[in-house]
Amino acid sequence: SAYNRVINFGAGPSALPVSVLEEAAQGLLNFRGTGMGVAEISHRSKEFQTFLDEFEASIRTQLAVPPTHRILFTQGGGTAQFSAVVLNLLARYRLLHPERGADETVVDYVVTGSWSKKAAQEAARLGGARVHIAADAREHGGKAFDHIPAHGAYRFSQDPALVYYCENETVDGVEFSHDPASPASFPYHLLPQDTLVPLVADYSSSFMCRPIPRLADHAVIYAGAQKNIGPAGLTILIVREDCIVDVDAAARLGAAPVPLIMSYKTLADSGSLYNTPCVLPIYISGLVIARMEANGGMPHYEEMNKRKAERVYKALDEGEKAGVFRRKVQKGSGSWMNVVFEVLGEGAEKRFLEGAEKLGMKGLKGHRCAGCTCFIQIYMLIHGSHRAQIRWRLVALILL
Ligand code: PLP
Repeated sequence: SAYNRVINFGAGPSALPVSVLEEAAQGLLNFRGTGMGVAEISHRSKEFQTFLDEFEASIRTQLAVPPTHRILFTQGGGTAQFSAVVLNLLARYRLLHPERGADETVVDYVVTGSWSKKAAQEAARLGGARVHIAADAREHGGKAFDHIPAHGAYRFSQDPALVYYCENETVDGVEFSHDPASPASFPYHLLPQDTLVPLVADYSSSFMCRPIPRLADHAVIYAGAQKNIGPAGLTILIVREDCIVDVDAAARLGAAPVPLIMSYKTLADSGSLYNTPCVLPIYISGLVIARMEANGGMPHYEEMNKRKAERVYKALDEGEKAGVFRRKVQKGSGSWMNVVFEVLGEGAEKRFLEGAEKLGMKGLKGHRCAGCTCFIQIYMLIHGSHRAQIRWRLVALILL
């Protein structure tokens, strides 16, 4: 291209459409005819407010967010939400059950990979409740997170203050299936029926790649922007009204005090403008979201991402048969967004990565974490061209 751009497979921050970046460059110089760049305009100006309203409305339309749920914008990434969901939902629980102390309060975590594990660890750090692991994908002594647990493996608490899961585990490449008939689907039918159980989902690495099933049944859905829709800095929250509570009233009843900026009520009451928002990430994400709507929205992206995943997994299967690849994730639990595999054979991985570089593809080296071998991670750029996604296959052919 005119900018000598490579194909960047990095999972995040991930690549954005060139057309959007060009438009954003214009906006940095002159935002919507104001004569001021978007990074210098007041977030209280009517032009920015209008932009924010359109951004929110487009997310609402594309994901079919019902009126029972607010869309909020904040900062601090997924990591800040590891803490915020616990604090806000423990405050809600305290308001509902003022008589129950920390020892009678439980939060349920479904652990399917390194991100949900981290979230559960943060809940344990914060205290205020017992952390119950409702399911752990490594339950049979295995070290690897390589599948979504079968429905029979889940044990939910009676009346948890929250039930947490991560829809797509970015590092491990494990994702819940959206096909309710699949054993790798989320077991909604096992959740306690008698309460409006606050279901929390981390959608950081799969946001807007397909519709969110049973969105209305969730209490909180959150996603950092930097995987699919924009630069790092923006976090998007979809929060059910009953989970937006007066955290100070809860603190008076003994709940932990919640920093104002982490309180969902602060964000909701101020229209996500309690303090200065991250204007530039909001702007670029807003442009991406508008482009997605113009392209046909979720039906278009779901169809495209499904096809990409099928092609990549087909090529991986061929590579497995030929003995050059090994999938890290069991069939049925594989992610549409990031596909994790090993390249087998002495020096083969190095040759694979070098071959990819020569074809202008970067960011294919997977995460390296303690205790796991090095692996390749293909992040399926939702804004990339179809051909770009599967160009890696040419490199695979060198090995085959
Ligand atoms: N959750 C998931 C699924 C992620 O992939 C990440 C980051 O990669 C996080 C949470 C943490 O997000 P952040 O880096 O925005 O704090």
